[in-house]
Amino acid sequence: MISRKEEFAPERARLSQYLRNSANILVFTGAGISTGSGIPDFRGPNGVWKRRQPVYYHDFMGSEAARVEHWDYKLEGWAGFRDAQPNATHAAISQLEKAGKLLAVVTQNIDGLHARAGTSLGKLVELHGTNSYIECQTCGRRSDPEPHFEAFSQTRRPPICECGGFLKPATISFGQNLRVEDINQAEEFASKADLILALGSTLSVYPAANIPLIAASKGAPYIIINRGPTEHDGFPEVRLRLEADVGEILPSAVAEAIEGAK
Ligand SMILES: [Zn+2]
Repeated sequence: MISRKEEFAPERARLSQYLRNSANILVFTGAGISTGSGIPDFRGPNGVWKRRQPVYYHDFMGSEAARVEHWDYKLEGWAGFRDAQPNATHAAISQLEKAGKLLAVVTQNIDGLHARAGTSLGKLVELHGTNSYIECQTCGRRSDPEPHFEAFSQTRRPPICECGGFLKPATISFGQNLRVEDINQAEEFASKADLILALGSTLSVYPAANIPLIAASKGAPYIIINRGPTEHDGFPEVRLRLEADVGEILPSAVAEAIEGAK
């Protein structure tokens, strides 16, 4: 029987080679990189949407009952998000930045763990927003979530901004458009990348999943690491496809690439 470490040895060597040869890596991440931090995959078999009805943005803005429901749902997950710690994959991506190899991280995740692992905010695009702060839907002012969740858990009243606007965790809701400036920035990064790594994503949610394809269309080698099928499997742009938990292979490949460059 071969150990898990040896199981991926040839693939990891190829991955390390790509990492070593690249100076402007674009990392695209999905839920699969955060399950190791205890963040549930919302789309998985035990996902929250099996139990709850999502609140659409239009309803949030138009109905107090919908705002209560949304805040109640967010309150249920808040302690888990607040206490989650980055794992070895987030740390490896941060190591790529320290080694001067990272162009940017574009993530579908709302857990804020890339920032917590040390990825610079100027290199981070959180396409679906973040649970790390609360945002006013009128004036855009951002604030710390904790006091708002505390107040809501006592009063059951959705918090209101000083300006009178509705406050909402800064994640993109169902029926809410992605921020144009985030998409533009992600596309600009994609056009400059010399390697694209898609990690822990099924690559099935658009427009986010376009970002790796933009990079690949400009000639950047496209590598996918995911446990389970992705919608980009079999695309001619994909240079390397690793069927694995990202945490089993990326941290050691990054260490190898950075050591090898010294
Ligand atoms: Zn406001």
